[in-house]
Amino acid sequence: MIPSILPTYNRAPLSFVKGEGAWLIEADGRRFLDLGAGIAVNAMGHAHPALVAALTEQAGKLWHTSNLYQIPAQQELADRLVEATFADTVFFTNSGTEACELAVKMARKFFYDAGQPERTDIIAFEGAFHGRSSAGIAAAGSEKMTKGFGPLLPGFKHVPWGDHDAFKAAIDDTTAAILIEPVQGEGGIRPLPDQCLKGLRDLCDERGILLILDEVQCGVGRTGRLFAHEWAGVAPDIMMVAKGIGGGFPLGAVLATERAAAGMGAGTHGSTYGGNPLGCAVGCAVMAHVATPEFLGEVNRKAGLMRQRLEGLVAAHPDVFTGVRGLGLMLGLECKAVNTDVVKAGYDALVATVPAADNVIRLLPPLTITDDEIAEAVTRLDAAATALKTA
Ligand SMILES: *Cc1c(COP(=O)(O)O)cnc(C)c1O
Repeated sequence: MIPSILPTYNRAPLSFVKGEGAWLIEADGRRFLDLGAGIAVNAMGHAHPALVAALTEQAGKLWHTSNLYQIPAQQELADRLVEATFADTVFFTNSGTEACELAVKMARKFFYDAGQPERTDIIAFEGAFHGRSSAGIAAAGSEKMTKGFGPLLPGFKHVPWGDHDAFKAAIDDTTAAILIEPVQGEGGIRPLPDQCLKGLRDLCDERGILLILDEVQCGVGRTGRLFAHEWAGVAPDIMMVAKGIGGGFPLGAVLATERAAAGMGAGTHGSTYGGNPLGCAVGCAVMAHVATPEFLGEVNRKAGLMRQRLEGLVAAHPDVFTGVRGLGLMLGLECKAVNTDVVKAGYDALVATVPAADNVIRLLPPLTITDDEIAEAVTRLDAAATALKTA
């Protein structure tokens, strides 16, 4: 008999009833260190007082109005994002995959308005993840995500990750944009080298196509910069954001330059809930904390500490781990053991991690994790690796 929840997830037998900072707590009181953070969502940890205050204060005033009216919290969050990034304008969504939908629409509209309606194709990369909507799965292109769901949204091409020549060869008169994650998340925590992102930007400029970055997982302070592309010193034309921006409240956004967004006038796109007062109040609180040099400096310092400890862990357990990869607090442990077994052993040691492709486990702690919690997390991972060896 089909379960009452559509069984699209293989769920672990854990159910958390409370969160505090980097900790998740079960009904029986067991406390887990959370190195998943809702898959890079709880950037400020669980139940952060400033986020709780922002949400409850707004909840006592007004939950929802239509985008037919001005929404002050939405205006404030848009202004904050424009101020802090390359972008001139923002559209709010409820999720990452909705941001993908608009990014694709925006790129196509740009060329339609430019008198080049044949430019509809988006070049994306193998191993990519852009969500589960029709555009999202077509953009990812993998059999795992698309099989059985055809006909797929047309107009997507795929090239191997980081293969500049293949990418160059894939551009033709039908190309509208390239879509890439600066650090692949689901794909196994694979950072794109700075010179590759610079090369992509140059190529887009040369060929007159748009650069769309998917910073749904790697954005909002995760890599130690507000957005990961800042490390390479280049800017996209369009950027997808979600996950961390809402700190756990469903919120996403598409950020764009004035030029890329010029065709998106009244009536071209919409969302009932996108940019609602609750989500935007929380988003403002997240931005007020994360978009400061002090906070980002701390992320970088803690990332260095965590990486150093993880290198020690890998050295101590060469039969379980083979290396560390990633950027900032978006880290991956390359496994020799089966990654899902390592995640399970972690649960027994009361530490939550997330599997990814390439036999990697992802470590995406709340950006607010403390030094002591990092040390404790690595101690628990060490216990998990020891248990796995003796099992
Ligand atoms: C999670 C994710 C998405 C999809 O976001 P949803 O909110 O689940 O729709 C898109 N792109 C990347 C890189 C992601 O990590």
